[in-house]
Order: sequence, then structure tokens, then C-alpha cells
Amino acid sequence: MPPTATLEDVKAYQLKVEKDKITPHNLPPCPRCRVDSSFFKIHAYRERRFLIIIEMLIKAAYCSLVRFICPGCGKTFTDYPDFAIPHKHYTRPSITGFSASYLESDDTTYPQAVMVDNSTPGYPQNDATLAPSTIHRWITTLSRFTQTCRKALILLLQENPVSSICRDLARLIIPQRKYKTNQRKKQLFGCRQLVIIEAFFQATFRTSIFTKLATRCAFS
Ligand SMILES: [Zn+2]
Repeated sequence: MPPTATLEDVKAYQLKVEKDKITPHNLPPCPRCRVDSSFFKIHAYRERRFLIIIEMLIKAAYCSLVRFICPGCGKTFTDYPDFAIPHKHYTRPSITGFSASYLESDDTTYPQAVMVDNSTPGYPQNDATLAPSTIHRWITTLSRFTQTCRKALILLLQENPVSSICRDLARLIIPQRKYKTNQRKKQLFGCRQLVIIEAFFQATFRTSIFTKLATRCAFS
């Protein structure tokens, strides 16, 4: 089974939007004028298309996202469901799952990383499939959550000071065949750290770093 959010996940979020259950409380304070997010007001609803994978087919699922506005300066902020990553149509389980499958084995190539049980998820309308270059870009995106990872690590060590996570992170090596530049090496490293921290976070707190923490860190 390819990693993906489900149609039920998307529908459940839509229902929360319709029942006014989405609040601005998890958002960070306004970076411009420091107004606390609990004072933010609903500004607009915007329909977003997500791509989920059902029986190896990439299908569109739609739900509304809520935009809040800061009463102090008028800056707007979007609340994202935990299956979403800003500016990405594929869902967070797909983005982290396919990226992890590229990184977890030293020999895996990008064309191999898009495969699940010897086939590649594809679009029902044409012959196009999930592109290897998409995973390359997802890894770049995931490598940018440095603030979220730092906060998650602090929380994990507070919860369990003798956790093996620091040893696991210190042991990380990125095989040389996976990068040509130092910048790419850093991105691969950052993404692998995120995958490990997320696994520890899930095991410790039974929730994802994307449920609240990434929102509080403004997806940085
Ligand atoms: Zn403001």
C-alpha cells in the first residue's frame, strides 16, 4: 500500500470546517505585530485540491481550508490539516513516506523510490505516474523544517532524557552516491533527521510533529 492520507481523512477535516471546529489557537503569534493567535478572526474559506492514492491511482480530493486574519495588521494565516504540507498537493503521509523510502536504504534510487510492490502510482486520466523528480523536491521541502525538528527534539529529551535519539541522529551517514553537492547532502541529512525525529515523536506522544508543532513553528 502506498503511503497516503485517505478520503476519510479529507472528509473528516471538511466536516470540522463546516462545524466551525477549526480554531486559530495552534497558530503562532503574528510575526509582524505579535498579536496572539487567539485574537485572529476567520477571514475566508478556500477550496484546496489534495492528491490521494487509492489502489495505486492518484485521485483528487477537495476540502476547504480556513484563512484567519490578524486584527492588528491584516496579515492572513492558513490553518492546515495535519495531513497537509503548505503548497503541496500530495498529502503528508505520501511526502514523508516516499521520501523516507528513498533515504532509508543506501542503494535506493529515485526511480526505485516511487515504486510500491513493483508498480508506480499513476493518474487515471493518462499514462502519467508519480515522477522520481517529485520525491527529489519533497526531500528539499522536508529538509526545511529545522525549527520544528529542534523543538521536537527538546520535547523528546524532556520526556525521556535517556532516549537513544541523539545517538541515532549522530550515527546518520548519507552515502556519497546520493548527492553531488554539499547543499544536497545537507538537505538529505535534514530530511533523514526529520524522518527519525517523527518516528520517535509518534512512538512517544502518539501524534505527529505535523499535528500541532509544525503549525506553531510556522512550518519552518
Ligand atoms: Zn499582525
